Amino acid sequence: MTFDHGNGPIGSAGAHFVLVPMMAQGHTIPMTDMARLLAEHGAQVSFITTPVNASRLAGFAADVETAGLPVQLVELDFLTAEFGLPDGCENIDMIESKGLVVSFMEACAALGEPLMAHLRQQQRSPPSCIISDMMHWWTGDIARELGIPRLTFTGCCGFSSLVRPVADDRRLSEKSVLSRGSLLVAAVASPPLSGTSSLTTSLFIPGFEKIREKMCEEELRCDGVIINSFEELETLYIESLEQVTRKKVWTVGPMCLCHRDSNTMATRGNKASMDEAQCLQWLDSMKPGSVIFVSFGSLASTTPQQLVELGLGLEASNKPFIWVIKAGGKFPEVEEWLADGFEERVKDRGMIIRGWAPQVMILWHQAIGGFVTHCGWNSTIEGICAGVPMITWPHFAEQFLNEKLVVDVLKTGLEVGVKGVTQWGNEQQEVMVTRDAVEKAVYTLMGEGEAAQELRMRAKDYAIKARRAFGEEGSSYNNVRLLIQEMGNKTNACG
Ligand code: UDP
Repeated sequence: MTFDHGNGPIGSAGAHFVLVPMMAQGHTIPMTDMARLLAEHGAQVSFITTPVNASRLAGFAADVETAGLPVQLVELDFLTAEFGLPDGCENIDMIESKGLVVSFMEACAALGEPLMAHLRQQQRSPPSCIISDMMHWWTGDIARELGIPRLTFTGCCGFSSLVRPVADDRRLSEKSVLSRGSLLVAAVASPPLSGTSSLTTSLFIPGFEKIREKMCEEELRCDGVIINSFEELETLYIESLEQVTRKKVWTVGPMCLCHRDSNTMATRGNKASMDEAQCLQWLDSMKPGSVIFVSFGSLASTTPQQLVELGLGLEASNKPFIWVIKAGGKFPEVEEWLADGFEERVKDRGMIIRGWAPQVMILWHQAIGGFVTHCGWNSTIEGICAGVPMITWPHFAEQFLNEKLVVDVLKTGLEVGVKGVTQWGNEQQEVMVTRDAVEKAVYTLMGEGEAAQELRMRAKDYAIKARRAFGEEGSSYNNVRLLIQEMGNKTNACG
């Protein structure tokens, strides 16, 4: 069944984008930003979701409605029981065991039929283009049937999109790398990439290989790639990516910059699990640049022992901090440890957020002077926009490549020193980063030493460049306009 929550003015003949996000916060959130951005530039947007995810998107729906933007949430039923999933399991962050990932992906593919039916019946102007998460390989058939382009979105930056296939593919001979073009060779040969291949291992999930193959096949057939980054940040890698894939790469970011006020920042993603006004009041009471923000995104699952070690390192650093912890529900021992003296000891300078934090609202507050991040791309680009240096703590997948970008290419961060992968759904029990390493990294980053000052200076510079790229007549701004124009022209030519 399809429910429409249409609102706002419906544009005239212009482009109509169908956005199909993967249901995981790190994939959906940037797509909500993309919807807002395209609509602000005059395009119509149909945003495909499912009932449980739609309820999480209530804040977003209300924001676009208030702003009068032509974004329509289209809710399609998600067949959990039919695929052996627990009732309501409609988001990757609700999957409790790796064994259910394949079922989840199959249930996603079953959205194809109702989506096609919806697109045929809908009353707005005909869709001009599908922008689909790369994981929704099945949208390729829909685009072909409708005769419209399919662009993919992976949620990754240009650097990791370029390098990951190379680093992942151990069978790739030097010759085949060479045949992919000189820029790629330069990129692969550059120091930031040495040693990455052992760290980018993909999550092993039995039965997932076939799905991965389909994703790759459809990726090769897609009509272009959307990247949440900006040209000036990673020029070489974006150019190389275009050369290697022979596809148009549209850099339209940092899309999080579409949030101009704390109201819309606070409704991004899940509902915050604390009082935002209180949080802002606390931040207002702190000196500019004095607080370190610690958050590991929406999926990374750090072990209880590691969390305790991290907390003790933060305590020893003596710097004010905000620490977002999601493990409480899963690991009661973490909650017990927090209550058993830690929280009391740090109460004058530490704020602990259990659950979901309004990350962008916090990160962009002037009190924040550093960011300890797991290097998910959204967090990384949000940190870049905040203009603060980072302490990198990757857990899995391309997060290790994002660390390389931040530390070795942009030179706006310090590694905390993670040497191994903490695989999602398969957390090791040992402590990988000691309290001393945390204390040292925080102390160095937040201190007045020359190295920290340089990191800060470069971070500020990239934040300025990001705003320029996103602002009027900037590179990303122009790319969004060109994208809308190109897709709109195609529709008009067909119509
Ligand atoms: N996020 C948030 N509050 C939280 C945790 C995450 O707002 O408590 C947002 C964060 O700002 C980012 C996204 O969720 O936009 C996480 O994406 P990222 O790529 O950084 O990491 P992932 O969760 O995919 O590992």
